Amino acid sequence: MNRPRVIIVSGPSGAGKGTLIAGVLPRLSCLEVAISATTRRIRPGERDGVHYHFLDPDEFERRARAGEFLEHVVYAGNRYGTLRSEIDRILAAGRAPIVEIELAGARAVRESIPGAVSVFISPPSLEELHARLARRATDTAEEIAARLETSRVELAARDEFDHTVVNRDIPTAIDDLEAVVTRALCDG
Ligand code: 5GP
Repeated sequence: MNRPRVIIVSGPSGAGKGTLIAGVLPRLSCLEVAISATTRRIRPGERDGVHYHFLDPDEFERRARAGEFLEHVVYAGNRYGTLRSEIDRILAAGRAPIVEIELAGARAVRESIPGAVSVFISPPSLEELHARLARRATDTAEEIAARLETSRVELAARDEFDHTVVNRDIPTAIDDLEAVVTRALCDG
């Protein structure tokens, strides 16, 4: 690896970003997830400080005002933000931070970190995405509708990304993401 680079992974909610990243992490020891902050409620199986830093709205606002976020957005009614401290800590350790982020955040990170490599994770179709979001069953019907609406906009933006991985089946998509990230880290 020449130098650590920031890897941006984006794509609609339910496309499988988290699953694919989890599949690639054990294979590439130089990668480390930059843990975001959010105000959304914690889902079953999630842990504070592992999946997100779960903050109440006042604390999120305080940190936003203090300039602690590289970017932050409202997504499906909740706030999400990339902590500068996470990116800095991972880079200082000589590793490559990977951020899992929605479209507006991906654009903002690309803007502030020009060498970042962006990967779009695409579902095979909108119908399949809907089925996955419904199966996940952790979100209300209203939240699912909001996420689907946002997905249409996100899918239309896939061409802005350096790479696209279509998540048709998980093992193949993990291999594809690994190949893309390996190239990005080695061909810097
Ligand atoms: P979820 O609630 O399903 O965990 O995440 C909803 C969306 O927020 C996903 O598209 C996820 O990638 C995105 N997201 C997670 N962390 C961040 C962040 O720090 N910044 C931005 N802009 N989006 C984020």
